[in-house]
Amino acid sequence: MVEELMPVVFIGHGSPMNAIENNEFTRAWKDIAKKIPKPKCILCISAHWLKGNTAVLSTENPKLVYDFYGFPQKLYDVNYPVKGSLAYAKTIKESIRTVKVALDDSWGIDHGAWSVLIHMYPYADIPIIQLSINPDMPLENHVKIGKELTALRSQGVLILGSGNIVHNLRMMRVDGEPFSWAEEFDDYIVKNLKDGNVSNLVNYEKNKDSQHAVPTNDHYIPLLYIIGSADMKKERPIFYCQNIFYSSLSMTCVCYGMR
Ligand code: ZN
Repeated sequence: MVEELMPVVFIGHGSPMNAIENNEFTRAWKDIAKKIPKPKCILCISAHWLKGNTAVLSTENPKLVYDFYGFPQKLYDVNYPVKGSLAYAKTIKESIRTVKVALDDSWGIDHGAWSVLIHMYPYADIPIIQLSINPDMPLENHVKIGKELTALRSQGVLILGSGNIVHNLRMMRVDGEPFSWAEEFDDYIVKNLKDGNVSNLVNYEKNKDSQHAVPTNDHYIPLLYIIGSADMKKERPIFYCQNIFYSSLSMTCVCYGMR
């Protein structure tokens, strides 16, 4: 029997507080999970695991990483008792050829992953694995690695990128209107996702608003894994949460391969 191809998903995760809130974003994430087959394993590429190399989280019992500061205690009290999978971690490592991949059990599940997955899969009954981001690599390497992960889609693995297309924390305004550069950059990326223009997506710095929208590219890079693992010629992107939050964060999500 040919296994159904799992969709690939990019989530704009925004504030860690989303983990304990019920809002338009978290409801959309739940909705996305309902529309896709239940995964056997989730591979998350989170903006919050940055390393000087590419590594796969290789532990059966990952810890939850509370990698944020100055938030209410109830956010640090969140428990999401997920498992990992050493077997899937090895499969993922073996799938990647572009760079040498290390198995790494020093990290855990960071908030880029758990603040989203706690809504999508609240029962914590699916193993989660993370892949680190090496921000020093040429950007096209992230797309190449995404392509190498494509085969996992037919093995029940959900590939999930978690970041933000526009992410400028210094210019955030809690009650502010969206900045025009934030809206325009997000629209530009959405248009290129619709057009399947990988070159423009990799070379996002060509866009005049990129310095404001992507002051550091840690939150943008997870999207590159998703466009690599999607078939952009055949699979049409479906968008969720296309709005700018706190003036300078885009919450846009995009899914490929969704029925
Ligand atoms: Zn983040």
